[in-house]
Amino acid sequence: MVNVVIAGGGPAGLATAISARLEGFEVTVLDGARPPIDKACGEGLMPDGVSVLESLGVDLQEVNSHPFRGIRYLDGHLSAEGVFPGAFGLGIRRTELHRALRCRAEGLGVDLRWGMRVHGVTAEGFETEHGVVRGRWLVGADGRASRVRRWSSLDGRRARHRRFGVRRHFELEPWSDLVEVHWADGREAYVTPVGKRLVGVALLWSGATATFDDLLASFPNLRQRLENTPVASKDRGAGPLEQRCRAVINGNLALVGDASGYLDAITGEGLALSFRQAVALVEAMAAGDLERYVAAHRRIVRYPNRITRLLLLIERHPRLRRRVMRSLAADPKLMSRFLALKMRVEGPRVLGSGGLLPLAAAALRGSPRMRAEL
Ligand SMILES: Cc1cc2nc3c(=O)[nH]c(=O)nc-3n(C[C@H](O)[C@H](O)[C@H](O)COP(=O)(O)OP(=O)(O)OC[C@H]3O[C@@H](n4cnc5c(N)ncnc54)[C@H](O)[C@@H]3O)c2cc1C
Repeated sequence: MVNVVIAGGGPAGLATAISARLEGFEVTVLDGARPPIDKACGEGLMPDGVSVLESLGVDLQEVNSHPFRGIRYLDGHLSAEGVFPGAFGLGIRRTELHRALRCRAEGLGVDLRWGMRVHGVTAEGFETEHGVVRGRWLVGADGRASRVRRWSSLDGRRARHRRFGVRRHFELEPWSDLVEVHWADGREAYVTPVGKRLVGVALLWSGATATFDDLLASFPNLRQRLENTPVASKDRGAGPLEQRCRAVINGNLALVGDASGYLDAITGEGLALSFRQAVALVEAMAAGDLERYVAAHRRIVRYPNRITRLLLLIERHPRLRRRVMRSLAADPKLMSRFLALKMRVEGPRVLGSGGLLPLAAAALRGSPRMRAEL
């Protein structure tokens, strides 16, 4: 019997393991895959995610990565960019991030068992082909399509909208230190600098199956820039993105990261949220009271989920999107204010009377259908 057993050694599972070791728990991590573990991801770690990792002692200095100072939205000929208030995000390959997390976990003495798939869960522990690994606290960190969530009767209702993602890397020097988000009807392209000569492109879309090249054709400027550039990775897809969770705890078991519910990749915050949840979960385990985690989890996701829903609404309604883009493009400071709002450094008033939220709110007042979607 160890103190904490974690099913899933992705970013959420490893951050939980590190945090739990720092609290003095004995920790075992079970993961069905073997490193290096890659994943379909935009690979933009937001500033709050960087600072949580720093507080956990994860060394990000030596990894191949690329800082970014903000975000640029592009939609046809319209463009708007903003910088994070006093902080940087980090573009980082998932394999590099995983290596840094693994190194820290190993250094702290976490028992990492790669290639050990979890087949079931009981009140005592996780079932594996080598028997049950028992723990005082059980953590499901097995990602968006979490089976631990299903086994523990924590699945929520089915999502209404089906969105997907696919990513590819290109070998070229990043042309910007901003993450670029290119918007088109029903799809977006996220361009993230992830190394000195490496750029990641993640495409998100709603609806039917599509290939990376089909989707890229909707972004002629981006496609032209990437033409004849060596491809540096195999395409990797994911979806449907939204996965709901009825509750984040059941008895002595808690869900963390994407397993605890996932809305969409449109704000690029999944990693940062996972790290913040990991720390909150360990605080609750240390206090011997998982209910504390329930409240903390709600606080952590409530606001980002609101912003995500707002962006998804804009994504689904091209006319609304163009109005919002025109308003962002017309005021050079508005995008930075939006990022300050997104990072909770400022409240909604920061957008002023001509800002994004009032605009969306005005659109919502006129449309019961959009209001229902939000
Ligand atoms: C297209 C796309 C783009 C994204 N872009 C961004 C972005 O730019 N920035 C950002 O912050 N976030 C982004 N995200 C979200 C981000 O990828 C996730 O939030 C993050 O991966 C969550 O980590 P996790 O550890 O919860 O899950 P995962 O990374 O999925 O890790 C789960 C782990 O559990 C293991 N596992 C699964 N089942 C079992 C089992 N039965 N037994 C044992 N082990 C198991 C897996 O092998 C894996 O290692 C994006 C997501 C998508 C799909």
